[in-house]
Amino acid sequence: MPETASPRILSRKEHPISRKSIDPDALRILYRLHHHGFIAYLVGGCVRDLLLGKTPKDFDAATDAHPRQIRDLFRNSRLIGHRFRLAHVYFPGGKYIEVSTFRRQSEFDSSSQETHPQSDNTFGTPAEDAFRRDITINGIFYNIADFSLVDYVGGLEDLQRGVIRCIGDPDEKFVHDPVRMIRVIRHAARTGFTIEENTYRSLLSHVEKIRLCSPARVGDEFLRELREGSTRESMKRMIETGMLFALFPPFLGPLKGEREREDFLLFAAALDNLHLSEDPVPDEFYLALFLLPLLEYFCPPLAFPSGRKGQADFLVQIRQWVTDTLGPLHFPRQIREGATQFLAAQRIFQDFFPGGKLPFRLVRKPFFQPALRLMELGAKVRGREPFQLSWPSEEKHFYRRKRKRRPRKGKRREAGDKPEADRIPPEVHTP
Ligand code: ATP
Ligand code: MG
Repeated sequence: MPETASPRILSRKEHPISRKSIDPDALRILYRLHHHGFIAYLVGGCVRDLLLGKTPKDFDAATDAHPRQIRDLFRNSRLIGHRFRLAHVYFPGGKYIEVSTFRRQSEFDSSSQETHPQSDNTFGTPAEDAFRRDITINGIFYNIADFSLVDYVGGLEDLQRGVIRCIGDPDEKFVHDPVRMIRVIRHAARTGFTIEENTYRSLLSHVEKIRLCSPARVGDEFLRELREGSTRESMKRMIETGMLFALFPPFLGPLKGEREREDFLLFAAALDNLHLSEDPVPDEFYLALFLLPLLEYFCPPLAFPSGRKGQADFLVQIRQWVTDTLGPLHFPRQIREGATQFLAAQRIFQDFFPGGKLPFRLVRKPFFQPALRLMELGAKVRGREPFQLSWPSEEKHFYRRKRKRRPRKGKRREAGDKPEADRIPPEVHTP
């Protein structure tokens, strides 16, 4: 079908994308491919964002040059991926631009698992490459040969009308790769566009299939929901479509009422504010703030006794709750454990409130400052005063008298630890 499809072409005069708004390194790559006789397009999110007047996060290129030809053209490149090889062309400062060969199928289509790496039917025409993509507004190409836009999938019209539409049959697209449903929701939330009727209906009927996906991919896409600045809008749509409950079935109870949902969305809005902050925010913090409104429902901190024993039990319980809750999503250990620590510290803060002074052993833990910030943000969202806590300053600790270390039992006779009496004085020579 798509091999013969004819695209809608917009000449340079008919669209607003100027080369000035394209990353100079991406332009260099496109020009070099073009001068060597290859087709060279900018593809995906960057073309969409340029048309929407936004600054793209990154620039991706696609070409009919095969991966080895790309590598030969760019000495600063490396081939990556096993089945669908693509090239990363590197620039100073760790920056790279992704250059891929036009493909027939998405790497995520379940049927493409059978495709042999590098086999001839892996690569495709520009039309096929457009049709294997997820939604129409992500399928527009920018052609460096004449600076035109090439649209096989109706993306230009949908962009103008404000529509998020699956390319091709939405049932097929979602069944082959259910992660696309999260992507549809995210793009609708980000742009404020309406999800087209067939796409929406299909999403509703396949929403439970998200649990069949690789937990690592779902985790990855979900983190993007939390940290890209449109979490509130995304969560609203996730509640409406049932995606949130397909991902996290235990949330259905605490979020069944309108008031509880509004409360949850206030926290989602706080995640969006975080996105605006100048300091980089680690993913574990985003995850902890996402889980915070549900913490009290599942593990009411005050159900644990005060003191170290209560705090330790609380940590164990939170760790289990986080593991159970994030069931179908996989996050790197550091992110999951970091979020767990920040949440567990909320119990400790309660022990020292009001008026208590936090011990220095706690204050110097790496999770202390983020956990404190989490507590303050949570209080702000709920319109409460944050706990007023105090703690010893670092200087005080610095000047504290150091305790002498006593040698451990059983180690006394090891070299270096020998008691004076046992040491052979160096000047004594035995004949
Ligand atoms: P962002 O601005 O968040 O990077 P994006 O649309 O560029 O958005 P990427 O994840 O960077 O998203 O993907 C790049 C392109 O790859 C997309 O624009 C889309 O055309 C295609 N794509 C990504 N994931 C899928 C998928 N699961 N199925 C089909 N096409 C996909
Ligand atoms: Mg992108």
